[in-house]
Amino acid sequence: MDTGRLPEVIDIGKGAAKRLAAFCAARANSASGAAPPRLVADANTWKAAGEEALAELRGAGLASRATVFDEPYLAADARSILRLLLDDDPRERLYVAVGSGTITDIVRFACHRTGRGFVSLATAPSVDAYSSIVAPLVVDGGKRTVPAAAPVAVFADTEVLARAPRPMIAAGFGDMLCKFTAVADWRLGSLLWGEPFDEAIARRSVAAARSCADAAPAIGAASPEGVVALMRALVESGLCMAEAGHSRPASGAEHQYSHFWELRLLREGRPPVLHGLKVAIGTLEAARLWDGVRGLSKSQAAERLGRAAPPRREAEEALIREAFGDAAEEAIACQERFLSMGTAERESLMAAIIDGWDGILALAASVPGLAETRRLLALAGCPTDARELGLGQLEIALGMRSAHSIRDRFTVKKLALMIGLD
Ligand SMILES: [Zn+2]
Repeated sequence: MDTGRLPEVIDIGKGAAKRLAAFCAARANSASGAAPPRLVADANTWKAAGEEALAELRGAGLASRATVFDEPYLAADARSILRLLLDDDPRERLYVAVGSGTITDIVRFACHRTGRGFVSLATAPSVDAYSSIVAPLVVDGGKRTVPAAAPVAVFADTEVLARAPRPMIAAGFGDMLCKFTAVADWRLGSLLWGEPFDEAIARRSVAAARSCADAAPAIGAASPEGVVALMRALVESGLCMAEAGHSRPASGAEHQYSHFWELRLLREGRPPVLHGLKVAIGTLEAARLWDGVRGLSKSQAAERLGRAAPPRREAEEALIREAFGDAAEEAIACQERFLSMGTAERESLMAAIIDGWDGILALAASVPGLAETRRLLALAGCPTDARELGLGQLEIALGMRSAHSIRDRFTVKKLALMIGLD
């Protein structure tokens, strides 16, 4: 575990911009010859917090300048990264990323590759990626997640967070409530698929989700207490991922549904939908599957396992091709272990499922049921029907059936396939 890459300061509260400027000034004083920090924002985050932050930096004696993107749909892609680098010179300097997911990803990638540090000034409690050490970039019409840098510090002002657009706050809640299913899937992957697991991190991730579930009405009302609780949980989730060295503490089957729909919208040039809103819908589907697991006794599970036909490679590949189109080969390659399972491997997996059934039922019990998940999402202002995301019936169904092929991870969806749960 390399905690040297985690933020030194996490400051969520009133008046954060002033403390951010003091932090930057102290660093500038200790790094002789460093150029003034460069602030990066888009048109919205500039108004929300960038303008004030630049004034605070200048007030602290730093001759900072700003790069402000003005595209209506800013993406973390080659064009944005080049634009940022063209605005700059090769001198050592700190960056200040003012925004949420996309701005932070552009800056974290550029800073990682140019050997610079950056400070995050979060404008919305919308994603858990602020302290992430990877950046999902848009490359050739697809998404590629590449190594990047965590900020040296994360600042967020309570009032700015509370003024964030409501769908962004709801998206942050969706990206937190999902940790119940994400961690249950992680435990399942550890139990049945030999995936690396960390009990302390799993517990922290679930505790962060619980704190948001308890604050759902306050988050839905965008009260100062609600947005601060949500922002703290999102940062904690990012730290869990960074400390684990992978996204398992924060991402299970529900994220696979979200990624599937995201790629589809991207490939077809359709307007993007906030990550956490898609995750909210994915969480409902994962909760529904866990409900199905919860309803089965050990003998019923054993009987179903014995009855279910093993997946046939050609049929599975055909389903993946129908769902993924041009991206099918990558998904098929990811699924090699699942698709190429021989009789002996399948029987040993089935035995592990039956032997571990009491443990699997305990996992199911740790996940809020479908009705409770829907109630909490609605309280926080999230969509509770996939059609609200602008998705059609067919692509909703394709995602729910085939999104599990995105990665070689064992999730409740793979368990459901094995025991014949629809
Ligand atoms: Zn997420």
